[in-house]
Amino acid sequence: MSRVVGIDLGTTNSLVAYVKDGAPMVIRDGAGDALVPSIVSIDDDGTIIVGREAQRRLLSAPGRTVYSVKRFMGQGVEDVQEASGLLPFGVGGDPGGVVRISVAGQEFTPPEISAFVLRELKRRAEEHFREQGEFDFEVDRAVITVPAYFNDAQRTATRDAGRLAGLDVLRIINEPTAASLAYGMASRDRGTIAVYDFGGGTFDVSILKVEDGVFQVLSTNGDTHLGGDDIDALLTAEVRRKIGGAAGDDSNDELIQAVRKAAIQAKRDLSSEEETELRLEPMAGAPAGYRQRMTRTDFERTILPLIERTLEPCRQALADAELGPSDIEEVILVGGSTRIPLVRRLVHELFGRQPHSELNPDEVVALGAAVQADILVSGRREMLLLDVTPLSLGIETMGGVMSKIILRNSTIPASGREMFTSYADNQTAVDVHVLQGERELVTDCRSLARFRLRGIPPMPAGMPRIEVQFQIDANGILSVSAKELRTSIEQTIEVKPAYGLTDEEVERMLIESFEHAETDIEARLLIEARNEAETVIHATEKSLCRPDFDQLAADALESGEPERITLALSAAKHALEGSDRDLILQTTEALNKATRHLAEVVMNRSVREALAGKNVRDV
Ligand code: ADP
Ligand code: MG
Repeated sequence: MSRVVGIDLGTTNSLVAYVKDGAPMVIRDGAGDALVPSIVSIDDDGTIIVGREAQRRLLSAPGRTVYSVKRFMGQGVEDVQEASGLLPFGVGGDPGGVVRISVAGQEFTPPEISAFVLRELKRRAEEHFREQGEFDFEVDRAVITVPAYFNDAQRTATRDAGRLAGLDVLRIINEPTAASLAYGMASRDRGTIAVYDFGGGTFDVSILKVEDGVFQVLSTNGDTHLGGDDIDALLTAEVRRKIGGAAGDDSNDELIQAVRKAAIQAKRDLSSEEETELRLEPMAGAPAGYRQRMTRTDFERTILPLIERTLEPCRQALADAELGPSDIEEVILVGGSTRIPLVRRLVHELFGRQPHSELNPDEVVALGAAVQADILVSGRREMLLLDVTPLSLGIETMGGVMSKIILRNSTIPASGREMFTSYADNQTAVDVHVLQGERELVTDCRSLARFRLRGIPPMPAGMPRIEVQFQIDANGILSVSAKELRTSIEQTIEVKPAYGLTDEEVERMLIESFEHAETDIEARLLIEARNEAETVIHATEKSLCRPDFDQLAADALESGEPERITLALSAAKHALEGSDRDLILQTTEALNKATRHLAEVVMNRSVREALAGKNVRDV
């Protein structure tokens, strides 16, 4: 059997992990380094270079080197205009199309660049297994993590990247969920978890609820342009100011990069030491053998405003989840920048509890992905219980009403079915309109797909038994099938719903559904009343129009009965012109009563005619 791994495909760093003898572990290179910088450089001869070596080329070959590609995954050209001006590589593409990255005279899509990183991780893992003397060292399946706020396009782009790298992506899971899994939170009966993820270029906070092994993201927030890079920039600027003179010259790239490198080293040192010395190699613009003592206190004073910028998104995420800091039972630190003691202190203060940091914050997401991968291949029960549908799914029924088949927050995989019928005589096809949303009316829901079930033999309205079945697989992919049970005619369609909306859209639709709940129900009740009225009116008119009606009335109806029926009929039709639901209900009920006897008479006659050799369909 081939190997399956868990991959954290990060903006700054990526890494791969697997479960060995029941425990997750990250795969390191010969030097003990687990992190592969998510940087890709294309050499003169077309060779693809990934990781640390590519990182060095950011300086030596900036026009051939791509970084931060995760920011462009699943994005359209319009989404990235603001970012593209600031990068050394070209970011463009056709209007309305996907982003294309031009580097070293070639064009790539973001998934292609990410695939280079994934291929490097796959290679590393295979090398690791081979060194372990394993016979089956091929790695062809993976679980890959994405930020919780990633939408369908971004998740699909990630899956595509995996496919391009020769990996069967078993599952895409949320980074905060992965971090929680790594900490064994799935075994909690219930709990609320805050995941604070401060990485290289982004800050994300997620509030999760876990119940019986099911994780649900209650809210996410963050800042897509706040991370360790900003700390580096701040520190670099400060050191340059201190050196003064030529160090302040913005065109002295070499010196700026040297200062940056020294600043990053000092930053890292100060996460474990109280004091460090920033040193510069002798070079143009730097005083010979420049040294600068730096204490953690100085450092913290410099970066405090920056770290404080992470607190507001945390408060917002709590508010969105309708929770206070004291409702949070576990706080998990993720991302290399949470190694900074000041960050830990502020997080501790905000949530009023010690955050988890027992696992390496830059490895914890990959460890969790490995746990999930292991759960999937070993077929343990929890695999079924990792996510929920964000919005209800259903189909359109008569009168433009959404009939829900799978309710929001159902754990996936999930399925549901409902029976429908035709509403016109001799209907040979029915349209199935698949919808997503919480509102009662179709016009307020999102249309996911439409398809047509054809080939139904002509039958009277209400006779066909059409079963519509919804099935969401573990990846959130919905398939819908419709089957006419009397004839076994069937149609199936695959729709992608669960992540088809951005989180904002999901949120907006949820809020609207609460706001509109009352008017929706009113509208729905009115539609139902109309449908009922129309059915009764239609049936009555059909009877009255029978060619043998006069004969039938003379034989079986009481005197005055036809007149009473006609009167009730016109009252019901009149009511139907307005939108007074009570009046529609009343007149329908009256018509129902007035025609009860007639219906019996017609039925008896039909049965007799059928027995006399006539076809039921002609009756
Ligand atoms: P991402 O999730 O964005 O890919 P990581 O979680 O790997 O990134 O975080 C990378 C960031 O963590 C970088 O800015 C790096 O400088 C920072 N970092 C790593 N180790 C430390 C440390 N010991 N102290 C402070 N910052 C660190
Ligand atoms: Mg990360």
